[in-house]
Amino acid sequence: MKVITRFAPSPTGHLHIGGGRTAIFCWLLARHFGGEFRLRIEDTDTERSKQEYTDSILASMKWLGLDWDDELIYQSQREDIYNSYVEKLIETGHAYYCECTVEEVEAMREVARAKGEKPRYNGRCRERNLDDGEGRVVRLKIPTEGKIIFNDMVKGHIAVDVNELDDMVLRRADGMPTYNMAVVVDDHEMGVTHVVRGDDHVSNTPKQILIYQALGIELPTFGHVPMILGPDRQKLSKRHGARAVIEYEEDGLLPQALVNYLVRLGWSHGDQEIFSLQELVKAFDGSSLNSSPAAFDTDKLQWLNSYYLKNTPLNDAIQLIAPFMQKLGITPQTEKLALVLPIYQERASNLNDLAQQILPYFKDASSLEMDEKALKSLDDQGKEQIKNILPLLQEAEFTLENIEQCIHSYVESSGVKFKLVGTPLRSALIGIAGGPSVHAIIYALGKPEALARLERALTL
Ligand code: GLU
Repeated sequence: MKVITRFAPSPTGHLHIGGGRTAIFCWLLARHFGGEFRLRIEDTDTERSKQEYTDSILASMKWLGLDWDDELIYQSQREDIYNSYVEKLIETGHAYYCECTVEEVEAMREVARAKGEKPRYNGRCRERNLDDGEGRVVRLKIPTEGKIIFNDMVKGHIAVDVNELDDMVLRRADGMPTYNMAVVVDDHEMGVTHVVRGDDHVSNTPKQILIYQALGIELPTFGHVPMILGPDRQKLSKRHGARAVIEYEEDGLLPQALVNYLVRLGWSHGDQEIFSLQELVKAFDGSSLNSSPAAFDTDKLQWLNSYYLKNTPLNDAIQLIAPFMQKLGITPQTEKLALVLPIYQERASNLNDLAQQILPYFKDASSLEMDEKALKSLDDQGKEQIKNILPLLQEAEFTLENIEQCIHSYVESSGVKFKLVGTPLRSALIGIAGGPSVHAIIYALGKPEALARLERALTL
């Protein structure tokens, strides 16, 4: 059997990390089994669905590296297909027209509530054999007794008594199918074998199973993943990471880090924390999905991001950082980035942070800003050290080793503590008192620029 999974977002907002995680699970499951991963846009809610959100969701999918197979499906273009299935159900006696008004159905619910029963439609039109007509909906004639049983990939055995449910609406009075009807038809037509989704949909599954049964079509396997909680184990709030994938992208997270982080949130594979995409595809077979909700941990995400940033090949890092530099008004030259990035990649937690850290290298000496600590270190004593070291650097042949040697021999011969030399030098060079080793900074700036900055610092 070919495994076919799908991700079915509603374009009523950007792709959220919860949806992103579901998409990753579905994608991995398909890729692990050499199957297909399909994408369906559930845009039947015409008021809330927006093209800009579809575009944004697709962009986030691409950014995460989740490629999909076959054509993209839009539910809004499939009304005829859904209707053909609704007609089939009417013809076979599994569905019927109902003329009860919204108010009447509400009154029935109220009666049930008053009796302490589950509020539901009372089946008034079930045996009336009504024809199609203005304002009539189509309802599913569900069995009067029995249980709907399924084995959830994540939650295990689930059984629901049909008495918990009612004759649900399949097609609204305006001719549009309901969510459950459309999903069943699409999953069937698309050949979906595994429906993996958030557990906010678990209560829809028994209803969908009844539709499958009425249509006499094969059920897929279902898996409902628990939601992501905040570190306080409450509903995930914006402050604790409940954000759109696009916001993480804008923050300068790397997609591999977010994918790695989200996969591990609710799935494990021994003690392994860091997975390449190939390793994930190999390891992820849909088992080991945790049935209890996982808590979002921003520190761990940052840690993973730093790890991936540090290990990004230079050429890739050059491409990645360019738009973040652009946001700061800088169009960086590749050669300069190639010198500067390696000394900062392991010091930054994200691309925004990295761009900020390397910014001083892309200013010219006269426009270099100094922070307070840097200015303070450029006191008489600090300037004295710069003055002493300047001629030595002027003479030195500009290799990394020579520069390091030059500074070390000065420190040794002068007897001054390294910190008292290093701090003012860094301040003069990049406007910040801390940072990578001084010789690395000098080398990355290049001789003329480094000397210009040291000379300028003497005039401050
Ligand atoms: N469109 C639904 C949602 O965004 C998903 C439905 C499904 O996966 O079956 O929540």
